[in-house]
Order: sequence, then structure tokens, then C-alpha cells
Amino acid sequence: MCVFCKIVNNEIPSYKIYEDESFMAFFDISQATLGHTLVIPKKHFSDMLNSDDETNKQILEVVVKVTNKLKAKLHLDDFNVMTNIGKRAGQTVSHFHIHIIPRYDQDDFEINFKPNPLTSTEFLEMVNKVNK
Ligand code: AMP
Ligand code: ZN
Repeated sequence: MCVFCKIVNNEIPSYKIYEDESFMAFFDISQATLGHTLVIPKKHFSDMLNSDDETNKQILEVVVKVTNKLKAKLHLDDFNVMTNIGKRAGQTVSHFHIHIIPRYDQDDFEINFKPNPLTSTEFLEMVNKVNK
């Protein structure tokens, strides 16, 4: 059984901040920034692309609810909300989860969309593949 299924089954402890019939939110053990939270479906899916449509529709509502709770209780305004799909994307736990990462004036968390030095041909080939 995966580590998040164990959390759902109360086999290992967690600091929960939201729970309903199908979803749960708890603080990430790493606390990349203070308040770093994970939202998960209770049912095991390996990631968002292997989840079902209903779960994917509902989870965003839960993420908004939980983010608003953090905003209100911790007096925060800025967040990154993200999910990792696959090892290359940094996924380490194969149970679908969405990170809510509060952002502070000075924090160590970084997402860097630095420009990719590709040629316009490479870019246009990719655009054509996607739209063909
Ligand atoms: P990812 O890299 O997207 O797969 O994220 C997995 C996250 O799960 C990491 O940020 C870990 O810190 C977190 N994590 C792993 N085990 C636990 C646990 N037992 N309780 C809370 N968070 C956990
Ligand atoms: Zn699981």
C-alpha cells in the first residue's frame, strides 16, 4: 500500500486540514514553505492523467477551498499550486496529489521559467505536431 493510502487509512499519522468523503488535505512533511499542503483523492490513482474525470473535476474545488483556508488562517495572498506527473517531473509518491505552496517575501522555493534557447524551427515543429 502506498504512503498516502496509509495516511487515508490512518495507518500513519498526518496533520490533516481538510477531509470529506472523497478527498483529504494534510501538511506536506517537507514544508517547502510554511503551510505547504497536499490535496489527495482518497482513492488511489497514480497521477492526474490516470485519475478519473469526476475526481479531476472535484479536486480543483477542494484545492480552492483549502487554499482559501490557508489564505484566511495564515494571512497569505500568494501560492503556487502544482501537480507532478512522472519521475522526470519530480514525482516521488505515486498517488495523485496537488501541492499548495504558500509564497512569502523571502522563501527558498523556486520555479524558474527561464527561456529555452531553442531555434524557431524546433519550436514551430513542436507547434505543428501538437496541432496536426
Ligand atoms: P512529489 O514529489 O510531487 O511526488 O511530492 C511528494 C510529496 O510528499 C513530497 O513533497 C514529500 O515531502 C511528501 N511526503 C512524503 N511522505 C509524506 C508523509 N508521510 N506525510 C506528508 N507528506 C509526505
Ligand atoms: Zn495510494
